[in-house]
Amino acid sequence: MSWNRPLIVGLLILLAALGWWRLQPGGGEIRQTRLLMGTTVEIVANGENRAQLKTAVADAFAEMERLDRLLSSHRDDSDIARLSQSATGATVSPESAEVIALGLEIARRSEGAFDLTLGRLTTLWDLDAPSPEVPDSQAIDAALAGVGPEALSLDGLQVKKRSPHLHIDLGGIAKGYVVDRAIAVLREGGVVSAAINAGGDMYLLGQRPQRPWRIGIQHPRQPDGVLEAVQIVDRAVVTSGDYERFFEQDGIRYHHLLDPGTGLPARACQSVSIITDSVALADALATAVFVLGPQKGLALLAEYPGAAGLIIAADGSRHATPNWSAYRSPL
Ligand code: ADP
Ligand code: MG
Repeated sequence: MSWNRPLIVGLLILLAALGWWRLQPGGGEIRQTRLLMGTTVEIVANGENRAQLKTAVADAFAEMERLDRLLSSHRDDSDIARLSQSATGATVSPESAEVIALGLEIARRSEGAFDLTLGRLTTLWDLDAPSPEVPDSQAIDAALAGVGPEALSLDGLQVKKRSPHLHIDLGGIAKGYVVDRAIAVLREGGVVSAAINAGGDMYLLGQRPQRPWRIGIQHPRQPDGVLEAVQIVDRAVVTSGDYERFFEQDGIRYHHLLDPGTGLPARACQSVSIITDSVALADALATAVFVLGPQKGLALLAEYPGAAGLIIAADGSRHATPNWSAYRSPL
């Protein structure tokens, strides 16, 4: 049989075109953004089957909206609002109980540096107000009355408060939990390559076409600067920084990561980045380590062998767990 040259050339061109199409980053990529949990949430998903991707991304957003309704302190009918309003406690959904259980564990292990009972204090600071101000010290003391890791306890779905005064704030952990659940929905929907970014709380599922996800860690003192880049596959990376939400008064920076010991913004760090396999854990650890500072923060991270951390201390010095370098990628 003799080969038909034009047919072979045509086939080769077709194959090359198919290969080129498959390598295009935008070829099978969906990118969608929504305002959720007080921040911009972006989902990027890659795959061959566009209809499947679209359904999975829509389902993931729907799940995040559902969970936000349970966990937000800014809605009157959320589990968390009901808990804050009640005198002694409340029965909550399994999802809220799961977040509270993890939050209480980090609260205990961080000796109260991470604290779910700071609701009154975060409301007092009101960082999102048009022109926030430093509260007076009596108001801070009043907001701190009765707070601490022992002030809240969980028995199944039953949450108990030690004092009727306590308000709950899951702001340091809920976003991470919600991203974990959205990733689970994407996986169930058959997605094998995706990224979710909820205002700095990220999960990178699988690889991008042909290469791992590469994430730039924001420089805490250079607004457009990248401090380091990391390569991530099937892991969370979360950064808490004093540059995210802050105001200045009399030349001093006041930000949203509060030290439960003083009621003031924590002073030991500029930023903390954590890599683990759970976004909820990374989120809570980033906040806890930020409050603890480099020394105690590294000691806490040593209790979580699966976690890697990068800490930029208040003086700009760099502190990392030994396993951090495994994720580093050239800038
Ligand atoms: P974000 O991603 O919004 O920057 P973080 O995970 O860094 O959030 O946590 C900051 C939020 O957590 C604050 O806005 C507040 O609601 C809450 N928070 C502040 N200080 C603490 C603390 N010491 N422990 C637990 N939650 C805190
Ligand atoms: Mg956090």
